[in-house]
Amino acid sequence: MPLMTGQQYRDSIRDMKINVFCFGKRIDNQLEHPITRPAIDAVALAYDLALDPTYQDKITAISHLTGERINYFTHLYHSPEDFVKRLDLMRDLLHHHGMCTGARCVSGNIANGLESVTYEMDKKYGTGYLERFRKYWAKVQSEDLSVGGYITDPKGDRSKRPAEQEDPDLYLRVVEEKKEGIVVRGAKVLISGASIAHEALIMPTRAMKEDEKQYALAFAIPTNAPGLTLLHQFPSPDFRRYVPGAKGIDFGNEQYGVYNACFIFFDDVLVPWDRVFMCGEYEFTGPLVGRLSPCFRCVTAACKCGHRDLLIGGAAVIAEYNGVAKAGHIMEKLSEMSYESELSYGCILGAAYRGFKSESGNYFPNGLYANVGKYQASKALWFGARMGVDISGGLVMSMPTEADMEHPELGALIQKYFKANPAVPTENRLKMMRLMEYLTGIGNILVAESSQGGAPTASQQMVVTGDLRKNLEEYKRKVLKLAGIKE
Ligand SMILES: Cc1cc2nc3c(=O)[nH]c(=O)nc-3n(C[C@H](O)[C@H](O)[C@H](O)COP(=O)(O)OP(=O)(O)OC[C@H]3O[C@@H](n4cnc5c(N)ncnc54)[C@H](O)[C@@H]3O)c2cc1C
Repeated sequence: MPLMTGQQYRDSIRDMKINVFCFGKRIDNQLEHPITRPAIDAVALAYDLALDPTYQDKITAISHLTGERINYFTHLYHSPEDFVKRLDLMRDLLHHHGMCTGARCVSGNIANGLESVTYEMDKKYGTGYLERFRKYWAKVQSEDLSVGGYITDPKGDRSKRPAEQEDPDLYLRVVEEKKEGIVVRGAKVLISGASIAHEALIMPTRAMKEDEKQYALAFAIPTNAPGLTLLHQFPSPDFRRYVPGAKGIDFGNEQYGVYNACFIFFDDVLVPWDRVFMCGEYEFTGPLVGRLSPCFRCVTAACKCGHRDLLIGGAAVIAEYNGVAKAGHIMEKLSEMSYESELSYGCILGAAYRGFKSESGNYFPNGLYANVGKYQASKALWFGARMGVDISGGLVMSMPTEADMEHPELGALIQKYFKANPAVPTENRLKMMRLMEYLTGIGNILVAESSQGGAPTASQQMVVTGDLRKNLEEYKRKVLKLAGIKE
């Protein structure tokens, strides 16, 4: 059965010796590094769950390519139910680690789009991309590989198209075609899970025009391919992991809680032809981006829903620990948080059921509802974070440390003055407060990530406004008719 254990995943990532840097230094062993280890543990947990008989149904499927049982992250969608299962999985998995499984999450959506456009490219040009892609993806499934999804380019001056940039490398491009393969140069930025994934699946960040053929590219490479340099992000919450003596309670989500996103630089990387799935067919970049985006927006919205479930749970517990659980406004706030959250989940479920099948048989969610759901997912998370802080009280941003608690004099003072509900040990209140610091985004980036990850809100507004424009004249005609007004 092609399912790895969490430990096999850990060992395989260590053995790849990926060229990744963090805080100005190369990481020798990501399994032992304070910034990469927690994210590896979160992904490893998802591997182990696939082997857990009580969870296996939720996180595995039978491959349409190999007929074997595979991890759901590598499964492609062929029906609304396939897609809904992925959404439910994302929400549920978040409950187990409170983190991100980006090392596996984005690529399945790209793969679903690629299977459909390679089919269409072959039909138009007889290119043979589909067979190549299916062979590659069957390998991913059979070896249970984690694959990062690389879409976002550095983009340079945002007011200019790729071909208009002063530096042509600001969008990833082909610089040479050889007998053995293509040579690519440029970068991809902010790629979730990149350094802890075995492979990278790469596609354009936008639709390309005829004079942008060098940027119309899709391919896969191993994350340790020669010429690749990865730079791990270092947002302010991660600095705490570097403070000497910080431990345990100081981290909030101690085991799993550091997001793993990287910048990846491609210094003339050779990609063998059997790993190239698009090279210059610019007119298929639009359909690829257009199909991938709604898939990924729904998937990212689903995991944010899981995060909000934890946020709501944490807010309820901290209210009990503070002794205010019975106050009317607390339940009102929890209920409002839930309302905002389920609004998003309802939209993405609607997107799943109002989708369409491509000629290749791949299933894609509806663009309008996917975008509304993603927009609402971010709004609900920022709102939830505000309510979480409101319910927790000022301590959520002013916590003492574990070293303070271990200090002979300070420890006693903390025990005495940080006690609230007499039935709750002070230590539990502090632990939960620190977790709330994480869940509200003060000690974590997931809340901020909900705005940019899967594209910023303007992208969703564009889709919604575009759809509205299509319908607006019709809606106006209808009210004029109802009011008895002749046009
Ligand atoms: C934690 C994290 C994880 C991520 N994971 C992944 C991943 O796994 N894979 C991946 O491919 N990407 C990933 N991303 C990247 C994400 O998709 C991008 O951050 C997002 O698309 C926005 O791009 P940007 O950061 O370059 O911001 P920008 O594109 O610079 O956007 C900044 C603002 O400028 C506006 N803007 C940009 N261009 C224009 C324009 N031409 N006209 C008008 N307004 C404009 C935007 O709407 C936005 O408001 C991740 C991002 C984060 C923060």
